[in-house]
Amino acid sequence: MAKAVFIDRDGVINREKEYLHRVEDFEFIDGVFGACRLFAEKGYRIIVVTNQSGIGRGYYSEQAYARLTGWMVTQFSAEGIVIDDVLHCPHHPEQGLGKYRVVCGCRKPAPGMLLAAACKHHIDLPRSLMFGDKEADIQAGRAAGVGRSVLVRSGHPIDEHVTQADHVIDSLGELERVRRIITDANDEQEAK
Ligand SMILES: [Mg+2]
Ligand SMILES: [Zn+2]
Repeated sequence: MAKAVFIDRDGVINREKEYLHRVEDFEFIDGVFGACRLFAEKGYRIIVVTNQSGIGRGYYSEQAYARLTGWMVTQFSAEGIVIDDVLHCPHHPEQGLGKYRVVCGCRKPAPGMLLAAACKHHIDLPRSLMFGDKEADIQAGRAAGVGRSVLVRSGHPIDEHVTQADHVIDSLGELERVRRIITDANDEQEAK
């Protein structure tokens, strides 16, 4: 079975901007490509899992989201990085319009996207990691049973005193810390 790094999008891959949906507004956070190259080098699949309630709220369309996602994946591939999958949740339990107003299993903190990706790509969750900028990302990682969940400071303001994250780092650009987390996670798994 494969192992994966699950990465939240906004605030982890790109600078957090409310309801971002245009290529012009998408700004990669420094060091993201380097971190993803390291993940690939260490044998991890790279899977993006993103809450996109802006779709359900009617702020932007599925098509606009898909266009931006296609562009993002192309930028990664121009850097030699394969993004294995990108999953999104368009729902919102209260603010969603029509069919989007639903209590779903995919909106983080629920683990649905991680579980679906794990099933589709035959991912061994305990050997996998989650990176996110919100506690909901960390909760989704834990609920899915990933080995380690890592909170980054590069997005939404975080409360480091209450987080359930295993690690807190500045951003994916903190490459040496990212490397150490991966090494420790691997050692821990091998010891089992
Ligand atoms: Mg985020
Ligand atoms: Zn959903």
